[in-house]
Amino acid sequence: MLDKKLLDILACPKCKGDLDYRSEEEQLVCNTCRLIYRIEDEIPIMLIDKAEKF
Ligand SMILES: [Zn+2]
Repeated sequence: MLDKKLLDILACPKCKGDLDYRSEEEQLVCNTCRLIYRIEDEIPIMLIDKAEKF
């Protein structure tokens, strides 16, 4: 589980918008950019290059 305070400050690096946290999948999702940022070892990988499109 990511820390709530960390979640509050995290934003999509592309659009600076809010992210949806999917705790089961360990993913942060930007519905505006349609990108999925993975969380590895409780560290969100906030890199557009590493994000997955959906
Ligand atoms: Zn975005």
